[in-house]
Amino acid sequence: MSKQFKFSLFVLCFLFLFLRSTVFVFSEKIKSNNKLSVIQNKNKNIEIFEIEKEIKDKMERIKELEKQDEIYKRNIEIKKVQQMTLNNELDILGTKIDVVSNAIERTELKIKQVNLEIQDAELKILRQEARIEEAKENVGEFIRIIYHLDQKNPLEILLLNNSISDYFNQIKFVKNLEYQMQKVLDKLQIDRQIIKEEKKILEEQELKLENLKKDHKEKQIDLEEQEENKNFFLKETKNSESKFQELLLAVKKEQEQANAEIISLEKELREKLKKELEKEKETIFIWPVPKNTITAEFNDPTYIFRKYFSHNAIDIRAGQSTPIVAAASGYIGKVKNAGMKYSYILIIHNNGFSTVYGHTSKSYVKDGDYVNQGQIIGLSGGMPGTPGAGRYSTGPHLHFEIHLNGNVVNPTKYLP
Ligand SMILES: [Zn+2]
Repeated sequence: MSKQFKFSLFVLCFLFLFLRSTVFVFSEKIKSNNKLSVIQNKNKNIEIFEIEKEIKDKMERIKELEKQDEIYKRNIEIKKVQQMTLNNELDILGTKIDVVSNAIERTELKIKQVNLEIQDAELKILRQEARIEEAKENVGEFIRIIYHLDQKNPLEILLLNNSISDYFNQIKFVKNLEYQMQKVLDKLQIDRQIIKEEKKILEEQELKLENLKKDHKEKQIDLEEQEENKNFFLKETKNSESKFQELLLAVKKEQEQANAEIISLEKELREKLKKELEKEKETIFIWPVPKNTITAEFNDPTYIFRKYFSHNAIDIRAGQSTPIVAAASGYIGKVKNAGMKYSYILIIHNNGFSTVYGHTSKSYVKDGDYVNQGQIIGLSGGMPGTPGAGRYSTGPHLHFEIHLNGNVVNPTKYLP
């Protein structure tokens, strides 16, 4: 054997061993990479499963509370048509408190639920990102293997294999690699799409969470007001039925007086201001205080004085001393400053409209003034025992009436 031939044989043997081991190392590396991420993703899957179970529990509890809420509301329906006794009214007020407490609990559960959903989406994103990373690594390995094999010409590869069948096995191996790589690439596309969708869900949930938190705050205020409402009646009536009936009559008188006053004033002033009012073309209303929860609706069926008069307005939640603006331009018909009794401001508008702002604690206008829409006319009130609140206000709010041709109409139909 010549030296040259020996050397060539040695090089070929070396190349053969090197190539085989490289292919082996690469494919083992892919396998071990995959094993590691399989474990990591398995942990994430368990976490996701547990979170989703918790979400389901919360949803079930919300459903139970919704059923309870229906029962409360049915009870109010039954009670409100019964005789107006103090006990009956206190029952209604108590159930109204239950309704709000129930709504608060549901909101709290929904907040927890959304927080869990956010966690769920974040974990799913992490899982997909890990899958993409893994796929990227695999593709890299595949390319490296194929590149190495591609560097050899068929004769070389044939020489590197023990037999013809090994050679064909190697071709099969490369074909299989290509097929595997395509599969990984396809999955990569799907994983990227899933991430996109999860991120969208995440954004939506974060917005939902913000709204729920706002809603929760509102309901807390609502609960406080409802409790104050009940306490007001307990304090005013000292738990005596006759005192309750007395209060109802006093309130009835106060309300009738105010209504009669408003109706006659409106008639008189509209006639007087006819020419001026006609200069105003359309009458479009804006909210007299910042748009907020309506705490007593127009003709509210659970209104405590419903037997004597229906609630001819909407009560808009407004903190004590919130600036009140003219809902539309017009002339001040009346500024009633009644001391500790019920105070109000009346504005006469064109097209047969007038508006009343009740329980005012302060006024900045006087009878006959012209006011532009949006102009501040006074401050809201309603806190029991404060100027302008009157006998039947149980908490800070604006009592807002709209009259059309002498009749009260539902303000929500006219407000934006
Ligand atoms: Zn009211």
